Amino acid sequence: MSTNPEARAWIRVRADALRANYRRVRESVGPNARIIAMVKADGYGLGVREVVRALEPEQPWGYGVATVDEGVGVQAVGTGRPVAVLSPVPPGSMVRALKAGLHVHVGSLSSLGQVSDWAEETGGAPRIHVEVDTGMGRSGFDWREAADWMPRIAEASGRGVAWVGYYTHLHSADCDTRTVHEQLARFRQTLEAPGAPSDGILRHALNSAAAMRTAEYAGSAVRPGIFLYGGRVGDGAPAPEPVASVHARVVHVRDAAPGTTLGYGVTYTASRPERWATLSIGYGDGLPRALGNKGSALISGRRVPIIGRTSMDVTVVDITGVPGVHTGDVATLVGADGQEEITLEEVASLAGTISYEVLTGLTRRLPRVWTGETGT
Ligand SMILES: *Cc1c(COP(=O)(O)O)cnc(C)c1O
Repeated sequence: MSTNPEARAWIRVRADALRANYRRVRESVGPNARIIAMVKADGYGLGVREVVRALEPEQPWGYGVATVDEGVGVQAVGTGRPVAVLSPVPPGSMVRALKAGLHVHVGSLSSLGQVSDWAEETGGAPRIHVEVDTGMGRSGFDWREAADWMPRIAEASGRGVAWVGYYTHLHSADCDTRTVHEQLARFRQTLEAPGAPSDGILRHALNSAAAMRTAEYAGSAVRPGIFLYGGRVGDGAPAPEPVASVHARVVHVRDAAPGTTLGYGVTYTASRPERWATLSIGYGDGLPRALGNKGSALISGRRVPIIGRTSMDVTVVDITGVPGVHTGDVATLVGADGQEEITLEEVASLAGTISYEVLTGLTRRLPRVWTGETGT
């Protein structure tokens, strides 16, 4: 819990839990697979600086991000490890990525061309991870056409381009193992094309769900994200340790006589003598607005319902029957309090989304309060 009496709301982040989840991935994939820790979107919303610092002692092979700015941000933390942009790089930022020494995604002949040209012009050795599309459909070379494009990559790598990684991305590893086998079979099939990568080039396919659920093809590297941050990876899979919890202070407590109306649009009216507490957190903090009249909070170890519409800055809960709630008390919107727990998945499901979106949707208005050793 934050001890800062000024904090109205915050996210508590446990570095030790992050590391414990990393070790769970390590155990699942075995000692030989390299781990590319995915830290895009500001470390899934938790603060990339602290995430990288917390993971450094575990010695991942490197870090994966989605944008050039994110990559530069990870480098700035001071890790000497590779930082790879594993989403397509817009043509306008490719040169900046290469100048910064980031490893870049190559998934089309145009991006390959840009990278090769840069190598020729500068004499630099741009490092690339080549993506094969085996069913995700959003980026990468088509697996069915490997005979056409693979030789072009081999050629470029003979002319100064440093071919570091070769990978694909799974679309349903959290729910449909059959498709994982199918995608991996397609991936392997491309390795028979002329010019296919040698053994020295990293092969990576598994995301968190595949790493924790099937793990049978770790290739030479894996790319876990959500599991590190405490997100579950499908039914029946091992649960991660919770990493992030969301808290807000009670800023107003009142009795509400029957007929008292609440919030925008008056979607809630007291039907009996009630007691309400206003929490200093709202959708402007990233608490999904969809939780209005649906979600809960924990106060004094008790679960209480969110009533009325969630506002931008505050949310009201019904604390009728919960004794001793005072202004300044701390409520939990995600996380545990005593025996009660609100999981990320519960919030996501009520909001009609996934844990990823809940985490990355938490705004900068909430300070990230880290506990546990964050390393260097
Ligand atoms: C985000 C991402 C991952 C991590 O996926 P999780 O489901 O969070 O484990 C892996 N690979 C790529 C290319 C990604 O963009």
